[in-house]
Amino acid sequence: MDAAQVQWMDWKWQAKHSIVDAGKVKGGVKTAFQMKITPYYRALMEEENPNCPIRLQSVPQSEEDIRFEYKKYGIDIHDSLSEEKMSPVPNIVHRYPDRVLFTVTSNCFMYCRFCTRKRLTGALCAPKLQLEEAFYYMEQHTEIRDVLISGGDPFTLEDAELEEIIKRIRAIPHVEIIRIGTRAPVVLPMRITDKLVQILKRYQPLWINTHFNHPKEITELSAEACGKIVDAGIPLGNQSVLLRNVNNDVETMKELCTKLVKNRVRPYYLYQCDIGIGNEHFRTKIQEGIDIIEGLRYDITGFAVPQYVIDAPGGGGKTLLSPQYVIARDDEKIILRNKYGQMFVYPEVKLGSAGGV
Ligand SMILES: *Cc1c(COP(=O)(O)O)cnc(C)c1O
Ligand code: SF4
Repeated sequence: MDAAQVQWMDWKWQAKHSIVDAGKVKGGVKTAFQMKITPYYRALMEEENPNCPIRLQSVPQSEEDIRFEYKKYGIDIHDSLSEEKMSPVPNIVHRYPDRVLFTVTSNCFMYCRFCTRKRLTGALCAPKLQLEEAFYYMEQHTEIRDVLISGGDPFTLEDAELEEIIKRIRAIPHVEIIRIGTRAPVVLPMRITDKLVQILKRYQPLWINTHFNHPKEITELSAEACGKIVDAGIPLGNQSVLLRNVNNDVETMKELCTKLVKNRVRPYYLYQCDIGIGNEHFRTKIQEGIDIIEGLRYDITGFAVPQYVIDAPGGGGKTLLSPQYVIARDDEKIILRNKYGQMFVYPEVKLGSAGGV
C-alpha cells in the first residue's frame, strides 16, 4: 500500500476528513440537521445520479425542512417513540421487561438523513455523556438480562472508552447478553480493526446489529469487516429501514438480503420508517412493506427474510406486520394460502378435543 492507501484505510483519518459542508457535495443543501459523510461512503456515490441510494441516505435535501405534524394522533415528531418518557435515568430507555437500550454517544460516522434520534444525534456539540446513573440503574434492576448499546454509534468511541463501558456491563451478574448497534461496517468498515474485534471477543456473549439498506453498500471492504466480526464468534444481524426511492422494491431487497446472508449477516428487522423531523419524504405506504415481504418469502432462503415492523408511536414497541396467509379458520381446520395463491386445508388435532377421538 502506498501512503495514500494507508491513510484511506485508517479509520481516524476517515473520521477526521469527513465531509460536513453540504455545499461540498453535489445537490447538497444546508438543512437543520447536520451533515457528515465519510470519504469512504462518499466514494460509493454516483456523482451524476440524483437518486443514487448512497446520496439519498447521506446528502441533505430541501424536503427535510418541510414540517409535518401528527399531533392529532398524539405523536411528538421530535420523539415519536416516546423514548424520553420511557427513560428512567439519562441514556437508558427501558421499554421491554428484560432489556434496555443504552445510548452511549450522540456521535455517528455518517448522519443518516432519516434518523429517528435526531434530537440526540442532532446535538451539534455532544457533551461527553455522564453514564454513572445508567450503570447504577442496570446494576439495581435485576430483571435486565439484555443490554443494547446504541447511540449515536458506539464505535465512534475510542477502543479504550468502549471497552470500559462493555466491561462495566459485563460485570453485572444478571446481564446475560450484550448487544451493540452500529453502522460502522456500512459507512466506515475500516473501524472494524483486528484490535477492536479482539476486545469485543473478550466479552461474550455479545451480538452486533448493523444497518445496511442497499446492496450497493456491501462492498469488498464492508464484507471484510462483517467477516471479521463473525469470525470472532459474534453473531451479526442487520436492521434495514424501508426508504422511498432507496430500497422500496422487491428486487433491491432481494439482492440486499441474499448478499447479506452470503456474507453471514442475518437480516433481522425491516423497519417501517419512523415518523420524525425531516423524514416524511422517506416514508412509504405500509402496503409496500407488506408486499416486499410477500415478494421475498419462498423465493429466497427463509432466514434471509427480515421481519417487517413498525416501531409503534408512543412507545408501543416493535410490532410485526406480515402478509395474511390465513384465509379462514374454525374449530376443525385452518385454511391457508401460499404466496402463489394456492389454498391448503390443515385439520386441527383431534386428540383431546371435545368429544374425544
Ligand atoms: C429496539 C429496542 C430494543 C430491542 O428490541 P428487540 O426487538 O429485542 O431487538 C430494546 N429497547 C428499546 C427501547 C428498543 O427501541
Ligand atoms: S447511524 Fe443510526 S443513530 Fe446514527 S444517524 Fe444513522 S440511523 Fe441515526
